[in-house]
Amino acid sequence: MARSTQQQAIIDRHKQIAEALDGCGALKMEQNAATDLETEEEYLLMEYMELLDHIPVSRCPICGADLKVTIDLAGFDGPWWWTTCPVDLPTHKSCQHFQVFLGAVHLRGTEPEESSESVMVGPAIPFVVTRLLEHPTAKAVLSALKTHEGHTVFIIAYYAEKPFPQAESHQEFRHESYALLDDQGEIEFSEHKHDRWEFDLDPWLETGQLTWIAPEDTSLILRSGLESPYKGLDGTKMNQVLEYGEVDLYEAPHDQKDTKFERH
Ligand SMILES: [Zn+2]
Repeated sequence: MARSTQQQAIIDRHKQIAEALDGCGALKMEQNAATDLETEEEYLLMEYMELLDHIPVSRCPICGADLKVTIDLAGFDGPWWWTTCPVDLPTHKSCQHFQVFLGAVHLRGTEPEESSESVMVGPAIPFVVTRLLEHPTAKAVLSALKTHEGHTVFIIAYYAEKPFPQAESHQEFRHESYALLDDQGEIEFSEHKHDRWEFDLDPWLETGQLTWIAPEDTSLILRSGLESPYKGLDGTKMNQVLEYGEVDLYEAPHDQKDTKFERH
């Protein structure tokens, strides 16, 4: 399914505005003109989000419900991918067991030229976070989708009968942090996890705590066992960040102490 003309027009116009507001351009601009562009930018982003379709990407191993998210497979210039996006993203359609999803992207040696804003896609091959799987009742499901350009997006979705305490969850795929809410549902803290990515999936496949869906299986049949198509994949284990048509590699998280979002 191609990105609609309307969605593409929104993204193209947004790029123009971002360029106009960037650096010297904004300084030379009248304040009113800059404010108008910022307002237009926000409207464009909200319109783009409304046009995204929910796509089934995983299935709950506890109750069998689909997990549907609005992942934009048409290109990494889609604001859905941005590490930070100034407008709210559409909520996922899921059962109550779904906790969070992490991800990885195999770029097949390409550098997606469309990327403009910073997009953090993680490693090229799937992994698990041991800490999350150590929660009582936690299970994970691995699946894979293709972008329109043929890149593979791996989704590792976590489910549990007993929800993860929010401070013990994890930021979603492609994001740097997640919000901790107070009793009134207001944002209290920004939490950032640095859990090591564990690429040896066998121990978890053996216990059945990790199951998988064959790549691009739209019927989302849950399968188990070691003989998965996710075994022995080649690709970087570093953190890939896309920006302005280039791919930069950064050190993967390694259980380091959080400093950026330290609480006081
Ligand atoms: Zn469920």
